[in-house]
Amino acid sequence: MRRKRIYEGKAKVLFEGPEPGTLVQYFKDDATAFNNQKQGVITGKGVLNNRISEYFMVRLSEVGIPTHFMRRLNMREQLVREVEIIPLEVVVRNIAAGSFAQRFKMEEGAPLPRSIVEYYLKSDDLGDPLVTEEHITAFGWASTQDLDDMLQLSLRVNDFLSGLLMGVGLRLVDFKLEFGRLWENEEMRIILADEISPDSCRLWDTKTNEKLDKDRFRRDLGQVAEAYQEVARRLGVLPEAGPIDIKGPRVMQ
Ligand code: UDP
Repeated sequence: MRRKRIYEGKAKVLFEGPEPGTLVQYFKDDATAFNNQKQGVITGKGVLNNRISEYFMVRLSEVGIPTHFMRRLNMREQLVREVEIIPLEVVVRNIAAGSFAQRFKMEEGAPLPRSIVEYYLKSDDLGDPLVTEEHITAFGWASTQDLDDMLQLSLRVNDFLSGLLMGVGLRLVDFKLEFGRLWENEEMRIILADEISPDSCRLWDTKTNEKLDKDRFRRDLGQVAEAYQEVARRLGVLPEAGPIDIKGPRVMQ
């Protein structure tokens, strides 16, 4: 079936969905880092992220967090609600790592006095700069109310996922969320969109501090696909036939 391609990003493609107000989110094996300077393929990543993100979104909706996720369609696709994406990346940090550790000259792994929420503007041209509430409201990327909703939702996601992951021996170091606006009979509400996966989270083994996320790709640590598989295994969502089921990308029209 030929479907209209709505948007193609680095790791996903969005197609027109079967009904109005829906989209099909297709997970690719492509990986990029450092604002596209580093590019590669992590075989099977799309299949695993589709499952892992499904799992997190379903668990979150069960505790009352609204998400765009409707249902998984197949190995690489899920049906989601169409939303107007707010052009911000909301990052929640529990432990210093990555660009944050560099910015404040902190050792990676240093605990933070409390969870810190940051906003970055989604802009490839500008390299996703850190922005403040002043920038966000002045330029109209989001309102004060939108920001308040996103902050409350992000902290609830952090509490819930930190606990869930702790239960499978993983520390939620930091993660990135994206939100969208959904209109339902003249009313707008903000819901969680995009994906939650080892592409968008830092996950460290509680005992060994081993990195089980995209930093293995960013930093050439090796065993990248294996790390994503390990996360899926611990969450109990490894595709039934196991790694055999995980094939490379299919050519999409
Ligand atoms: N992150 C992301 N997409 C981005 C930037 C960051 O998903 O474009 C995630 C990243 O995986 C990490 C968290 O947000 O879990 C914080 O990333 P950081 O700002 O430290 O950036 P990095 O060091 O990855 O450049």
